[in-house]
Amino acid sequence: MPMTQERAKELASQPSLSEHLPIIFGNGNRVTCLSTNCLRCEAEIPSASINGELRWLLPHVVQVEAVGYCRQCNLLTPLGYRIDDQLAILTLQHGHWQRFESRPASLLARCRRWLRGMASPPRPR
Ligand SMILES: [Zn+2]
Repeated sequence: MPMTQERAKELASQPSLSEHLPIIFGNGNRVTCLSTNCLRCEAEIPSASINGELRWLLPHVVQVEAVGYCRQCNLLTPLGYRIDDQLAILTLQHGHWQRFESRPASLLARCRRWLRGMASPPRPR
């Protein structure tokens, strides 16, 4: 879904997505971490550097509309998708919502790696 520059600026002025985490669904599934990758350098952008809006569309579907900021590139990367209570990600493609079950697994795995990296920095040998 293309995002206008005005909308990207508006989202950038919103609070960080980390303030909305964890997202807890009625069935107990939760999203503790959201990240994206910079459009230009592909570096990981953690939730703390992603600003925007979370909106509950249905009791089991939350919509994320946000922009991630990469300091290195000074660039905003837009994010727009929905997450359901099965932790599947839904993205709008050619006017239809497509559901990806494999994406969140890798998304969450990346988050876990990132969190683990933060929790225990590599020790010198
Ligand atoms: Zn970058």
